[in-house]
Amino acid sequence: MNKHFETIAVRDQIERTGNKEHSVPLYLTSGFVFDDAEEMRASFAEEKQRDLYSRYSNPNTNEFISKICKLEGAEAGFAFASGMAAVYSTFAALLSSGDHIVSARSVFGATHGLFTKYFPKWNIETSYFGVDDVEVVESLIQPNTKFIYCETPTNPGVDVLDMEYLSDIAKKHNILLIVDNCFATPYLQNPIKFGADLVIHSATKLIDGQGRVLGGVTVGSEALIREVYLFSRLTGPSMSPFNAWVLSKSLETLAVRADKQCDNALKLAEYLEKHPKIKRVKYPFLKSHPKYDIAKKQMRLGGTIVAFEVEGGVEGGKTFFDNIEMCSLSANLGDSRTIVTHPASTTHAKLADEDKLAVGITPGTVRCSLGLEHIEDIINDIEQALDKI
Ligand SMILES: *Cc1c(COP(=O)(O)O)cnc(C)c1O
Repeated sequence: MNKHFETIAVRDQIERTGNKEHSVPLYLTSGFVFDDAEEMRASFAEEKQRDLYSRYSNPNTNEFISKICKLEGAEAGFAFASGMAAVYSTFAALLSSGDHIVSARSVFGATHGLFTKYFPKWNIETSYFGVDDVEVVESLIQPNTKFIYCETPTNPGVDVLDMEYLSDIAKKHNILLIVDNCFATPYLQNPIKFGADLVIHSATKLIDGQGRVLGGVTVGSEALIREVYLFSRLTGPSMSPFNAWVLSKSLETLAVRADKQCDNALKLAEYLEKHPKIKRVKYPFLKSHPKYDIAKKQMRLGGTIVAFEVEGGVEGGKTFFDNIEMCSLSANLGDSRTIVTHPASTTHAKLADEDKLAVGITPGTVRCSLGLEHIEDIINDIEQALDKI
């Protein structure tokens, strides 16, 4: 019988040791021992499946990967030290000099930095499409295009892309669709269901949910993950057993945290929509969101991030941030504590002004990651800061 998300998240564990501990122990070991020369030979030759060395695999990383695979509906995966290690290693494993990729313009700042600063020096070219003109995607595909890449919802604009549409184009041209599912987590959205070939997460965000550890993971078919694994076991971006142990436990509470944080986000978005000092609110499950129907089709709930624009441009934004009392001014997101950020001066500061605008970042744009506090306290804090503008 197929179990529900919540049940898999708490019950899917690796085998217990002879001590029969209820909570899976932490395997802080770099290597593993063999009985004899033959076992060692067979293990290195991959004739025998077992852990050899923690750069390749470890019981704790295996558990974390197995849970994410079940929750995403994927065959296989590999866990990384951070979300960016997952993004970079996945690209590096699958791309060669002379290749081309088609990407949404609106991607995480560091991913954008990879495309613009490092890929050109390896002769990998990127063509971009705006979140509002996906009709151009097919025309951007060249004979050397290897994949289409996107995030949905996007960071920080909270735009939504139609994965089935993109996957149809990818299949027609025999290329891959790779989706960064960080904002939604496996609980809110499963891109493989909508045709994605590989799904990437920064586990640092809502998967950890308490702002403690960095982590990343890529999941997909056995064959594709095999390539990602072979590259990664040589180059060493692997997740530490400790972080995997923390993140496996975090997954146990993901559904209840996400339910509450999404509820807080929807309530804040509805409140802000009526506020006179707010020029614009973006939240996937607000009827005013331009891709509301697609968000409803793809996502279980609207996510934990609300983007909004305060009156008064840069000065308005500055006054707002300087008067926030409870919410944290921090670059993280998906934490149990509500966080407000100013993408224009922080995470996306390196983008040229026209690129900022192209990805929906105006000078007064605020990204709010809703935490687990009581919604009235969150709204009160935001309200008193807006009053000062
Ligand atoms: C944070 C983030 C990343 C990078 O993750 P790290 O764990 O910080 O390396 C990648 N994609 C998105 C959408 C993110 O929000």
